[in-house]
Amino acid sequence: MKRIIFLLFTFVTLLPLNAFGWGRLGHYTAAEIAERHLTPEAKRNIERYTNGTPLAEYAVWMDVVAKTEPYKHLLRGWHATIADTRCKSPKKVRDEYRDGRDGISAMEYFTEELRNRERLSDSVVLAAIKCIVHIIPDFHCPAHVRFTDYKNSGDFKVMFYGKKTKFHKIWDSGVISRGRGIKDHKKYADMLDTYSKREIARATKGGPQQWFEDAARKVRPTMYSVKAGDTLDEKWVKEVLPFGEQLVTESGYRLAKALNTLFGNEKPKKSK
Ligand SMILES: [Zn+2]
Repeated sequence: MKRIIFLLFTFVTLLPLNAFGWGRLGHYTAAEIAERHLTPEAKRNIERYTNGTPLAEYAVWMDVVAKTEPYKHLLRGWHATIADTRCKSPKKVRDEYRDGRDGISAMEYFTEELRNRERLSDSVVLAAIKCIVHIIPDFHCPAHVRFTDYKNSGDFKVMFYGKKTKFHKIWDSGVISRGRGIKDHKKYADMLDTYSKREIARATKGGPQQWFEDAARKVRPTMYSVKAGDTLDEKWVKEVLPFGEQLVTESGYRLAKALNTLFGNEKPKKSK
């Protein structure tokens, strides 16, 4: 995996949006919440690479390129993560069940690469930012939380608002996009970003592995709650919406913490 990052930005293409894992609205909202919680230092350092582009605009890049060459190989597996039956996700479990291709392993890789980012080109650092902005919210999305004893990918059909729909897709975008009728991610972030400082500190304790394990503990009790052929309507969406929104919100705070940790200590480059 060592050379992946150097290839990430070699291929730039404009592609139609194919959003999975929280869909466009959920991902944009999580990134917007994260942007609001960057430290001034991290924000300044990140903007050196993004030129001030809002993080939300990178939020679904990994999904947009997911099925295209060469990204489908480079980014393979990074959209989901696995936990054991106790909701733990040590390296051993990730290596054994996903060949080390999962969101947490990807975060470990980027953390290591960005530790010495002065040797990376700016475009490579930007590619890493785009991936991180997507990966952390993705591993909070219920159908992207896999277990060693149950795939939990929602790979079956249900009736959703009168249409046969894959259950995976409903968690990807159905719940968040239908729940409140809000279309604007900034308005959604205004609504969700209400944690107190203490609540944010509690939610962001630890790092990516602990955050994922917390998401897995929240998701696991729900894993058999919907079966093939079930009918899911507005009533069901209203029931699960607060749970989905909690995961989106916490993923935003955790994304901010990851970016603050990675970019909060960088000295600005001397101008030539
Ligand atoms: Zn994804």
